[in-house]
Amino acid sequence: MKNYKRNDLKHHANVGMVFFYIANNLKNRINPFFFPVLGNQAIMRLEMRPEEYVIKDAKKAQDTEADLLIIENKIAAISENGKKNSLNEQTESRLIMISEIKYKKQICEIGKRIYEQGFIAANNGNMSIRISDNEFLITPTGVSKGFLTPEMIVKVDRQGNVLDGEYLPTSEMKMHLLVYQERPDIHAIVHVHPPYATAFAIAGIPLDQAIMPESVIYLGTIPIAEYRTPSSEEVPNAVKQHVHDHQGVLLENHGALTWGKDLEHAYYIMESLEFTAKINWIAKQLNGDRELSKKHVQTLVEMKSKVGIKGMTPQGVETPDGHHAKKITPIREQSLSEQELNIIIERVSEKIINELKKHL
Ligand SMILES: [Zn+2]
Repeated sequence: MKNYKRNDLKHHANVGMVFFYIANNLKNRINPFFFPVLGNQAIMRLEMRPEEYVIKDAKKAQDTEADLLIIENKIAAISENGKKNSLNEQTESRLIMISEIKYKKQICEIGKRIYEQGFIAANNGNMSIRISDNEFLITPTGVSKGFLTPEMIVKVDRQGNVLDGEYLPTSEMKMHLLVYQERPDIHAIVHVHPPYATAFAIAGIPLDQAIMPESVIYLGTIPIAEYRTPSSEEVPNAVKQHVHDHQGVLLENHGALTWGKDLEHAYYIMESLEFTAKINWIAKQLNGDRELSKKHVQTLVEMKSKVGIKGMTPQGVETPDGHHAKKITPIREQSLSEQELNIIIERVSEKIINELKKHL
């Protein structure tokens, strides 16, 4: 009986080897567009790459860009031939894995951009992507976001439990999960400390004035979410009241948080937010920060709705006839120069001395 089993296994192994040999030969010779005619089983055997290879070792996967591309092309070829529905579970899970690796790489790429832009220092900042209803890729705590590698990215569920990854997720994860919970249309989040926006957050000044057409259309108003200790349970509550009507918030005395339909979108909103804060600040230094009229803002709002951008928009101000904009910050009160102060001190001293002389 034992011998029979051994022989049987040997037989199966030989058949397997022969099939493997043929399949690998076919793989090198056949155009991927012919794969559908071979059927799913043949396709899977032709791929000959266990999922674990790509999923468990993200670093290795980085070196197999060409391999991933081949698999992607095969799947695209199947789809083009109208056989997408015939993809079996294994193929679909591989497709998900490929997307997961791509998303991890995208987080690393955006991490570099936020670092190079000076939006963060040391290990600050965090980013995340929603990859399914209950799965999120999020940056780890304690590492520079400018030097991330795919294997550092952590996968968590909507309760924040780690599903995959060696690192600890960011301590500010709760505010990310809150945004995803409240906004099913949002798929990515960026949190950083860009200097100009953070200065506005420290001063408690929201970005809610119509200072530039682009900001009115693409950014809208950015309110202040009241200060709460970072990473505490209270932060999500402070963000919650603003999450439905805006594309981001300034976290009071802390930094900025933006969300978008994908990571690049969330990043661009952050870039636009910081740019708007910077221009606003420079205009204030010139003592020339002027806000657009309500009439002009209305035209911009119409343009905004045409391009399908949601969220609150600055309202603009009433301006005198013929003026398209009006000064926001009142002109500062005149301060005395050093010379003027010296004259006053001199005069006062003289009077005091004269009074004292009278009593001597
Ligand atoms: Zn922070």
